[in-house]
Amino acid sequence: MIELAIIGGGPAGLSAGLYATRGGIKNVVLFERGMPGGQIMNSSEIENYPGVKEIVSGIDFMQPWQEQCFRFGLQHEINEVSQISKNGKYFDIFLSDGSKKEAKAVIVCTGGVPKRSGIKGEDEFWGKGVSVCATCDGFFYKNKEVAVLGGGDTALEEANYLTRICKKVYLIHRRNEFRAAPATIEHIRNNPKIEILTPNIIEEICGDSNGLNRLKISNVNTNEKSELAVDGLFVFVGYNVNTQILIQKDNKPLCDMTEFGQVKVDLNMKTSVSGLFAAGDIRESALKQVVIAAGDGAVAALNAIEYLESLKD
Ligand SMILES: Cc1cc2nc3c(=O)[nH]c(=O)nc-3n(C[C@H](O)[C@H](O)[C@H](O)COP(=O)(O)OP(=O)(O)OC[C@H]3O[C@@H](n4cnc5c(N)ncnc54)[C@H](O)[C@@H]3O)c2cc1C
Repeated sequence: MIELAIIGGGPAGLSAGLYATRGGIKNVVLFERGMPGGQIMNSSEIENYPGVKEIVSGIDFMQPWQEQCFRFGLQHEINEVSQISKNGKYFDIFLSDGSKKEAKAVIVCTGGVPKRSGIKGEDEFWGKGVSVCATCDGFFYKNKEVAVLGGGDTALEEANYLTRICKKVYLIHRRNEFRAAPATIEHIRNNPKIEILTPNIIEEICGDSNGLNRLKISNVNTNEKSELAVDGLFVFVGYNVNTQILIQKDNKPLCDMTEFGQVKVDLNMKTSVSGLFAAGDIRESALKQVVIAAGDGAVAALNAIEYLESLKD
């Protein structure tokens, strides 16, 4: 029987493993379907993690995490979890290879993936002008002109955020109406640094060996085509959280979730199911930053320790 199972080896899962094992829990197993490190491994540079002064690649940044987090006895199982269910007091962990493990407590840290737009040129200029995170990459466009693609809350909030750093922000959306909170829309409309380009689509992301330098856009109503000179494009067309493993055979979620599939947790990262915790990008209202995911993981682990202690009473 596993004492504590951690699903997902990104910043949340690794820091949960560090805190759980260093906190004295024996038999803590981290299930990770690939190489530990998480989404940040796809980033060419990270410069906003406190204490890391150099700008490093995601891979170099996560390397010491693995060494440190496994130092206190965290076990690593390279395996994909297909489902988690509650079985009486404990949990069943079903693995993609057909096997099953049992655990007394579980921390789910399976993160997510920002959706890609699929626009021509996106793959070519990914990380060379195309970004999915204004908090992470906005600073690289200080006093430059950028575009934001999307019409939801995230796109509008991030466009607003970027105006604090960039000279100008073009907001491109295929409809004239935005799917965001009225107050956010008002902020956008009143922000002199934002130029709204609707109803427009981006047909192609163009650039050269230095990176993205222009967008080919087209007006959905008139079909009029134009080019926009920008240094960066921020894509906010949605985010998929990896919470499928919590969906049960009857199609109901194991614990409470939001309408967007994010796991509802309290400030202790406890879900609505006793002994089940969630941390990092999969949780409700996550700000999707490494430092926050790591903090969540630590909080979840400390509360899991307390929960495991309570089982002994
Ligand atoms: C391109 C890019 C650049 C970014 N830049 C920055 C930045 O500069 N600064 C910053 O703070 N943040 C940045 N972020 C955001 C940051 O990477 C995330 O907020 C953070 O990684 C979330 O950590 P997590 O542990 O919650 O989830 P993740 O990092 O998503 O890790 C989840 C892990 O779970 C594993 N997993 C998923 N499902 C299963 C399963 N069923 N079984 C087993 N394993 C599973 C995955 O393989 C993955 O390793 C960036 C993100 C991207 C995509």
